[in-house]
Amino acid sequence: MSGFVVKPEPVAVPGLTHLHTGKVRDLYATASGDLVMVASDRVSAFDWVLPTDIPGKGRLLTRLSLWWFERLADLVPNHVLSDTPPPGAPADWAGRTLICRNLDMIPVECVARGYLAGSGLAEYRASGAVCGVPLPEGLVDGSRLETPIFTPATKAEVGEHDENVTFDHVAALLGEAPAAELRDLTLAVYSRGRALAEERGILLADTKFEFGRGPDGALVLADEVFTPDSSRFWPADSWRPGRPQPSFDKQFIRDWLTSPESGWDRAADTPPPPLPPEVVASTRAKYEEAVTRLTGD
Ligand code: ATP
Ligand code: MG
Repeated sequence: MSGFVVKPEPVAVPGLTHLHTGKVRDLYATASGDLVMVASDRVSAFDWVLPTDIPGKGRLLTRLSLWWFERLADLVPNHVLSDTPPPGAPADWAGRTLICRNLDMIPVECVARGYLAGSGLAEYRASGAVCGVPLPEGLVDGSRLETPIFTPATKAEVGEHDENVTFDHVAALLGEAPAAELRDLTLAVYSRGRALAEERGILLADTKFEFGRGPDGALVLADEVFTPDSSRFWPADSWRPGRPQPSFDKQFIRDWLTSPESGWDRAADTPPPPLPPEVVASTRAKYEEAVTRLTGD
């Protein structure tokens, strides 16, 4: 089992229609059809949206996404129209609300990997390839891939795992040329991000982009970009291939949840317990440190 421990209720704002409660973001539509994306302080681990929020997380990640969108704008247009909450929105939406173009979303999670971890590592161990991309022998947990790879996935419902697919699967779904366009753009954007983050002591091990198309048919980068929710952030100074890498954001949460103190049995069919205040505080500090290291403010 997985999903929300407590499913949050949407907020009623005059003029807005609630569309979707995601793991982290709440989506509304304006009267003119634009999308309102509100980033909450929710955090997920082990496929559960936990019953405890990380105060400030929504604002930190919104700021980080905006920072990246700006730095990538010469490579790819993005969906952001404004960071001013709509009239009548609760005061606490400020700083974590983006008005976005409502795009025709491409039903593929565009994943780029520059290091081996997670489902990529599992596939490599089983078959020597990830999403049909063959890799050299002898790679280990956390190995750097000199040439980043495109490892698409199809989107799953809340609580389900996304499913890794091959490039050919994407080509069958969207057509050969659109699939190649998505792959090339994904790798170009990822490579830019990886290099920029590396200069600041952070390894962006992998990331997931979501693209949509505007009315003119051009690809637009949507959703969020290079946040610790969409990417693996590793501190460069503790990177040691051959073991799981400490991650910048959720390490304290994962460590605590799997420790005897939490009393939680991950294998049993029960929701995880609330996080203790010290785990909340240290997690918040990690998110803050990642954002500060990257953006420099
Ligand atoms: P997760 O990303 O952790 O899998 P989720 O996808 O269920 O969770 P959120 O990320 O919280 O939910 O919500 C964002 C939703 O908004 C996604 O379904 C995403 O595809 C969609 N989305 C993002 N940008 C746009 C856009 N410009 N136009 C239309 N839909 C968008
Ligand atoms: Mg999402």
